Amino acid sequence: MKGRTSQFQGRPPGFIFSKEREPRERKSGPSRAGTATLHCEGLPAAQLAHRFGTPLYVYSVSAIRERLEAFERVFRKVPHTICYSVKANSNLSILKLLANTGCGFDVVSGGELARVIRADKRAAKRVVFSGVGKTRDEMRAAIRAGILLFNLESESEMRVLAEVAAGAKRTVRIAFRVNPDVPAKTHPYISTGLQKHKFGVPIGEARGLYAKASATKNLKVAGVSVHIGSQITDMKPFAASMERVAELVRELRSDGHRIEYVDAGGGLGISYEKGSSGFEGPVADYAEALLRPLRKLDVHLLLEPGRSIIAAAGILLTRVLYKKRNGTKQFLVVDSAMNDLIRPSLYQAYHEIVTIAGDGSSPNETVDVVGPVCETGDFFARDRSLPSVNEGDLLAILDAGAYGMVLASNYNTRPRPAEVLVDGKSAKVIRRRETITDLMRSEV
Ligand SMILES: *Cc1c(COP(=O)(O)O)cnc(C)c1O
Repeated sequence: MKGRTSQFQGRPPGFIFSKEREPRERKSGPSRAGTATLHCEGLPAAQLAHRFGTPLYVYSVSAIRERLEAFERVFRKVPHTICYSVKANSNLSILKLLANTGCGFDVVSGGELARVIRADKRAAKRVVFSGVGKTRDEMRAAIRAGILLFNLESESEMRVLAEVAAGAKRTVRIAFRVNPDVPAKTHPYISTGLQKHKFGVPIGEARGLYAKASATKNLKVAGVSVHIGSQITDMKPFAASMERVAELVRELRSDGHRIEYVDAGGGLGISYEKGSSGFEGPVADYAEALLRPLRKLDVHLLLEPGRSIIAAAGILLTRVLYKKRNGTKQFLVVDSAMNDLIRPSLYQAYHEIVTIAGDGSSPNETVDVVGPVCETGDFFARDRSLPSVNEGDLLAILDAGAYGMVLASNYNTRPRPAEVLVDGKSAKVIRRRETITDLMRSEV
């Protein structure tokens, strides 16, 4: 791609620095011919900000497809279904795009299930339902929809599901989500596979639970499920937990259970750092870590990736409102804030930030990029070296497609951003910007 700069190596093809080719485009945005500016697929980021306003989430169709295809490629040798984890980004248009490629879905609430059904009714049969606190209403809705698998997390939940299924005169497929007691080497808030965490049933107690489940009417034992956390970039914990799951599958089969599915959960991390080495390598290593323990086991593998599909396919565009200096510190106050993207505040997460003109056009300065919310924790970057910008300039916060908009709030009575999906040269609003009237609508 012409004008592509090295800092974008390893990123999906959705976001690139490129030069304007068609003079026609120059009218609609401030980018000048000759300078490489940030584009989402065929559209200049500046033009998108101009058309749709800021803050603005922008997603790339080709970036989503590329990641999905990478998954399909590395798992092609085994029967598998990708059940995209809806909680990473639950926009209906994105769910629809994924459903159209044959994806299944991992949901953790009745609300997420309703979204999947709205996006594509036929996808319901490829839904797995996870989560520690499913309610009877949620179970009823999932039974009615005819989902693929319930991932149970306690004996009490098993009893309740059996009751609800009996009420609906149906038999439902179940797995237990086992807790393998494997440390995931990720942020403590998103590590889930240790005994001290609320998730799953202790793997040592699983055989007893499967025996009870298979003796329970209206339940059909069908699989084993595991999920050890999120943003995991070291493959050893995946391999270790899959070893334990494989051993359990053998034991369960020798106990006489029919285990058709192994649900490996999600959690594959991405590189948020500058100059990452790409996705092909890591996803191949991930497949290797999961598939080696499962060799000869003859199961249908379910995968629940969220972040690794959608994170790098989205950016958050924001405009610099003010430059201010407090003593030695230089701040860029931008029009987006922690209510739009909370990952830096919540997990001390790093997001790469680029200027629309990319590197090299102006000297760097060290800045804190902060929002207008009244919290010291409201920042996107601290002591970050960025090319010098002016008030009114645009910044793009990269890798914001996962756990971005889904975690957005209305704190400080700030309307949530619009979302736009770009496919080639077309941009579609897939969620309109909230208005302040929207925010007050349900109050008296
Ligand atoms: C959050 C979650 C996922 C997705 O995790 P990612 O890190 O986004 O891939 C998958 N399965 C379960 C059960 C989850 O809770």
